[in-house]
Amino acid sequence: MADIIQLLPDHVANQIAAGEVVQRPASVVKELLENAIDADSNLIKLIVKDAGKTLIQVIDNGKGMSTTDARLSFERHATSKIRSAEDLFSLNTKGFRGEALASIAAIAHVELKTKQEQEELGTQIVIEGSEVKSQEVVVTPKGTSIAVKHLFFNIPARRNFLKSNNVELRHIIDEFHRVALAHPDIAFIMFHNGSESFNLPKGKYRQRIVNIFGGKTNEKLVPVEEETEVLKISGFVGKPEFARKTKNEQFFFVNNRFIKSAYLNHAINAAFEGLMKDNSYPSYFLNLTVDPKTIDINIHPTKTEIKFDDEHTLYAILRSSVKHSLGQFNIAPVLDFDRDRNLDTPYDFEGKRVSNPTIDVDRSFNPFQEEKSSNKSGSFSTSYRKEPTAHWESLYVGLESKGTKTTQEFSEVQFESEPQNQSLFNEKSAIESKHRTYQLHNKYIISTIKSGMLILDQHRAHQRVLYEGLLKHTTIQEAVSQQLLFPLALQFSTSEMELLEQLKEDLEHTGFVFSKFANNSLEITGVPVNVPESEVSIILEQLISDVEQEVPDSNFSATDLLAKSLSKSLAIKTGQSLTSTEQEYLLNSLFACKEPSVSPTNKTTFITMSVDDFDKKFM
Ligand code: ADP
Ligand code: MG
Repeated sequence: MADIIQLLPDHVANQIAAGEVVQRPASVVKELLENAIDADSNLIKLIVKDAGKTLIQVIDNGKGMSTTDARLSFERHATSKIRSAEDLFSLNTKGFRGEALASIAAIAHVELKTKQEQEELGTQIVIEGSEVKSQEVVVTPKGTSIAVKHLFFNIPARRNFLKSNNVELRHIIDEFHRVALAHPDIAFIMFHNGSESFNLPKGKYRQRIVNIFGGKTNEKLVPVEEETEVLKISGFVGKPEFARKTKNEQFFFVNNRFIKSAYLNHAINAAFEGLMKDNSYPSYFLNLTVDPKTIDINIHPTKTEIKFDDEHTLYAILRSSVKHSLGQFNIAPVLDFDRDRNLDTPYDFEGKRVSNPTIDVDRSFNPFQEEKSSNKSGSFSTSYRKEPTAHWESLYVGLESKGTKTTQEFSEVQFESEPQNQSLFNEKSAIESKHRTYQLHNKYIISTIKSGMLILDQHRAHQRVLYEGLLKHTTIQEAVSQQLLFPLALQFSTSEMELLEQLKEDLEHTGFVFSKFANNSLEITGVPVNVPESEVSIILEQLISDVEQEVPDSNFSATDLLAKSLSKSLAIKTGQSLTSTEQEYLLNSLFACKEPSVSPTNKTTFITMSVDDFDKKFM
């Protein structure tokens, strides 16, 4: 039989290998930025179009390449950075596999321009799908420019697999942040679709963090410095009170390389123990310096994971130095034994019984309820009698007075998506004659229905009510806004501003009025009627964090996310006591919704228990 094994042609091998190195535009950004850093640049420019799908270009002012090197740089395993296997263990550079440029050139159109300082002229090479299209002598400044166009042009499946521009751009920005944070001594500029997204001058580490994450970051940073024989730590942790709902301000760098380590992350959490609220994450920006011989970074192709020889020691040192810093800055709770107890309460309150303060907030007031936008609580009882709520109300009316007509009335009720509702009211065994609500543990509202009992979760139910109201308003685009006496100025980081920018229109439809929307700040002159001014910034932060966790793919889902996030922030909370009018209003509004049975995040809003169920229990 003939031999059947053949060596793959180079371009096929390259394409296969490229899959490992280049997963998405952000991978190209990472490789190009790292090459620019390895070339000793001090100014690096990143230019991106259409989230990298059309163009990714990195221009540096580093040492450049000779003509021969320029040509060689696209060969697989061509690297100037290591010479032998031993060198792998004393790495000071980012790259070492000599694979990135070969891989990128296999799956894109690449144009390289490069010149070394001492040379008069530089080299330009155009390469498409591993095929060199041209090589010329050009006039170009010192350094290297690599433009990558039409990524995955010859692998349509990969191209189609890319996410929306929003998602891909976020990945690019994440990579950009990581590289820029690891190198505050290098100036970085990033452009997206022709406008400048980041301009980070060379400076101190603190300044770099603030330039990326916004001015308000400054006050929350606590320095961490430690030097031991095996490990040097420098950087910052965020004060616990500024902890975030997302993990996107958590950065470890080992020898200037961004890494992910669940183990070291645990060390930080341990240091913060007792200082953090649930569901919040400490910010940290920590640089660890270790002997390169004691780590192995070659265990993952994208090189964000790392193996340490002595993890346990690193863990212990890291935890104690973070703890120490938090303590030094008086962030740990202090026990003050010298305090004069008599000062704790004003003397005339001594011996008096303490009663819980009560606050009457009308959180169930819904500004999106038609025609009632400026009503105060007193008018709930009238507003819920309006269509389509009236159907629900009439169920009770029917039960009360016109016993025989009920069956017919019920059949007129249209529930759009809830067959379950139907069954609630179609049962014949109506015992209840009066419609009452009762609040249980400031959490559930209980109401009697014909078949037995209905229990609704006040927080989830109100979320549903607000959510549908918000959706309606963002789609029909009429806002009910309350004017603020003084404009409210808020600071955000550049990437947060980018997110808000995308949501701006939708926010306006809910009632937000922006008078300024630029750089890292915005000014608000109007807010939706049921949003208290003091909560605006919390609400927007929650919104950003929600959107960051679930980057919207299309316009529609952005609106949806906004409505979900706002309804979550604005809904009456568990633990809030409601008047009976409010309870009734909530009940009625819920059943006026299109999908009353679940919250916007698909959690059950109410359950029912029939008299039969009770009967069984009493058997
Ligand atoms: P690696 O970085 O792993 O060595 P790459 O494929 O990324 O592999 O790059 C191959 C070689 O091309 C590098 O070793 C370097 O010599 C050269 N090179 C790449 N980018 C640049 C740049 N921006 N400036 C100077 N030389 C570069
Ligand atoms: Mg490289």
